[in-house]
Amino acid sequence: MAKNSPLMEQYYRIKAQCKDAVLLFRMGDFYETFGEDAKITARALNITLTSRQKDQDGNKIPLAGIPYHALDAYLPKLVKAGYKVAICEQVEDPKKAKGLVKREIIRIITPGTIIEPSMLEEGANNYLASVVEEKGSFGLAFLDVSTGEFLATEIAGGDEAEKKLATELTKFRPAECIAPESLEDEILASLKKQEGMSLQLLSDDEFDFEEGKKRLKDHFDKRLEDMGLDRKGPLVKASAAILSYLKSTHLEALDHISSIRIYSPSEFMVLDEVTLRNLEIFRNIRDRSKRGSLLEFLDETSTPMGSRNLQKWLQMPLLSCQEIKNRLNAVEELFRDSLLRFDLREALKGLGDLERVVARTSCATASPKDLVALKSSLERLPKIGTILERVKTPHLCDLKFRLNLGSLSEVVDLIERSILSDPPTTIRDGGIIRDGYDTELDELRHLLREGRDWITRLEKKERDRTGVKSLKVGYNNVFGYYIEVTKANLSSVPEEYIGKQTLTNSERFITPELKEMEAKVLSAQERSKALEAELFLKVREEAGSRAKEIQEKAKALGELDVLTTLALVAAENGFVKPELDPEGAISIRDSRHPVLDKAMRGIFVPNDVYFDAKESRFLILTGPNMAGKSTYMRQIALCIILAQIGSFVPASFASLGTVDRIFTRVGAYDDLSAGQSTFMIEMTELANILNSATSQSLILLDEIGRGTSTFDGLSIAWAISEYIHNKIRGKAVFATHYHQLTQLADVLPGVKNYNMAVKEEGDSVVFLRTVVPGATNKSYGIHVAKLAGVPQVVVSRAKDILQAIEREAVIEPLGENNRKKRTTSKYTQLIFFDGPQGGEQKEVGLKADETDRPEPFFGELIEEITGLDLNTISPIEALNRLAEYQKRLQNRELEFKSRDS
Ligand code: ADP
Ligand code: MG
Repeated sequence: MAKNSPLMEQYYRIKAQCKDAVLLFRMGDFYETFGEDAKITARALNITLTSRQKDQDGNKIPLAGIPYHALDAYLPKLVKAGYKVAICEQVEDPKKAKGLVKREIIRIITPGTIIEPSMLEEGANNYLASVVEEKGSFGLAFLDVSTGEFLATEIAGGDEAEKKLATELTKFRPAECIAPESLEDEILASLKKQEGMSLQLLSDDEFDFEEGKKRLKDHFDKRLEDMGLDRKGPLVKASAAILSYLKSTHLEALDHISSIRIYSPSEFMVLDEVTLRNLEIFRNIRDRSKRGSLLEFLDETSTPMGSRNLQKWLQMPLLSCQEIKNRLNAVEELFRDSLLRFDLREALKGLGDLERVVARTSCATASPKDLVALKSSLERLPKIGTILERVKTPHLCDLKFRLNLGSLSEVVDLIERSILSDPPTTIRDGGIIRDGYDTELDELRHLLREGRDWITRLEKKERDRTGVKSLKVGYNNVFGYYIEVTKANLSSVPEEYIGKQTLTNSERFITPELKEMEAKVLSAQERSKALEAELFLKVREEAGSRAKEIQEKAKALGELDVLTTLALVAAENGFVKPELDPEGAISIRDSRHPVLDKAMRGIFVPNDVYFDAKESRFLILTGPNMAGKSTYMRQIALCIILAQIGSFVPASFASLGTVDRIFTRVGAYDDLSAGQSTFMIEMTELANILNSATSQSLILLDEIGRGTSTFDGLSIAWAISEYIHNKIRGKAVFATHYHQLTQLADVLPGVKNYNMAVKEEGDSVVFLRTVVPGATNKSYGIHVAKLAGVPQVVVSRAKDILQAIEREAVIEPLGENNRKKRTTSKYTQLIFFDGPQGGEQKEVGLKADETDRPEPFFGELIEEITGLDLNTISPIEALNRLAEYQKRLQNRELEFKSRDS
């Protein structure tokens, strides 16, 4: 059996330290990967897979390498693909190494522990999450190591715990999540479903409570009581595990993680996963990109801090009226004072990513260029402080105070004095430190200059001495300095020249005095580079020691940026400041859907919205397909969310009661994210609403109940409506095709009917997009079919049939194949409930005929119903038919009644 080479021995030793990571093993100018890692790398990066000498068992080892200078281009791809990547460097100079070069893992990068700007999206946080379960409760922590933001919460046990966990994860969209390997399968499965989140299962020891307490105490250098962390088991476990996970990635100095914020999801408006998706808050439904989302619409921020802060506000809309008012008043001042707004935006524009630069500074990964960027951002703060002298509202005054508190001019000074204005991104090659900053460096540089001058002078001296005009002094990496003489002049070369190299047309020589000077120059050069690096690290450390203060200011800047942005968006889009209604009524005049309104450039039709706590809290919205029902419901929700993050709203007037949760459910029929049993999903989601909505909630139901047979669906819709109205007593809008539901308005005091107005023009309809009071009793299905381009013959045929049905006439069959069949089946009982829940339930409509043989009217109806091929008709068509049947039955009942009286 052959033995592994010493190099491979070293490789295997290092690989054993990071078995779950792809190991990039530095060898000269390449990072090499071997074995399985090589296969992964080749696939993920689309590079060639080769093989290396055989291993000890005689098998070829797969090999894939990337040039060291291309790391920045390749690394993000590997990490994005969800891999943990370990970077192993040569930690000593190969020229000086005796035997094998020493190598060490210097960093492990995972999707949630990225600090390198090349791999981060500027305006978005990159969270690492940690989930721990304890007796049904969850501890949940989020850390963005690139900004130092650290949040944690506990989700109490109960039926809803797992849902709430999923919702929190959806809000923060972590890139990675750590969890103990003993986590229940069911919870694991739900974690695996989180979009774009890579899951790392760690040994349970990593989540130890006692260890965790100690770690948190040490890291924050505070008592747990003072951080609100006492007695919070799972929360402590989750938070502490994040810190130790970071340590395992070789991110050591984490001074920028200077505080932890314990929050409760109930402090904020709850927007569950489905609602966030359906309202397109962060991403659109179609391709899950930012395009067309509320976030994209609002994000006119000037700084990366602002952009991230805006997302956070959208993740956590406020509930406290006082806090909302504070923000609204600040936005109002910036809205009214356009000069102030303009000045602030100008001052904020181009401000670098202070939060992330300072994070890199404290993690000791900041480059010389980063420090210069830090300086130029910090330099601009006093100016922003000065502009803020003009503000009056308390919230803005508070931001002014936070920005002006304590000066960072020493940091600016230090960087200004020490670092050149355009330094490199690398630390090892000098060119970083200014002259005059350090005497030793100045001396070395002086020596260097002298040495180089001496060498330049040598050229002239030797030319004069030898009389060879073309004599040159040159330098290369192999021989160092040399004197070059062309072949033609070789006869003039003095004796003491020592030959070194022969080229085609010339000969290169050295002299002892040249070599002596060379040694001096090179050692000065080396020493000076090393000294520059040393000095730089000191400056970085000193700047990093101010991380916490810088971070505080960066946070204030982020808030200021968002407030200014909200004011700008309000001004540009004709938004109005909402009033807050303590009674909980909602009244909006000329409400618009912000994103659609902007996209449609003025042709969007505004609509009013009205809810109160008593007589108008359950709105039933009818109207044909495409009339604008879904849009109307979404715009109500968006308006409320905007107000509760402190933004003005798209309307001409708004008075809003705060809402604790918004639920939106789109019936399976309309849901684009189909898959498995959509009706089952619809009902599960509905169960969730009915179980967790409160009287302060807003519930938007869009075509619920359409995923099953018509009678089934209608019955469910009806019962749900009663339950929401009678038991939950929150605000709700139910958009529906079921005209029957509008009957609820007659019996339930809080129900109001509205419909989307349409104008009939001949056999065509025009959507007016206006919400008007009252119910519709027409579906316009045929009109819509026509609009949609269904062939004219079909449309006319449908119209004939409809008329026939309305006249209760026999429908003439079309051709041989449609020959009527006689049916003998028994008439089935149809019952519609009509009356408040709990009250006596009156059965209206029709009962089964006493005899086995139906009278002709029913016979016809039965035949039509039994003859329907449910597999080929669309839900709309089915519903239309149902409406027509119903109409016929109602007409008939009227007939009977008039006959009776
Ligand atoms: P429904 O839910 O009734 O089928 P939607 O709300 O999906 O209808 O609206 C269909 C389309 O009508 C939207 O995509 C939009 O283009 C347009 N629309 C909706 N509301 C309005 C409005 N208020 N003003 C102008 N166009 C609108
Ligand atoms: Mg719709």
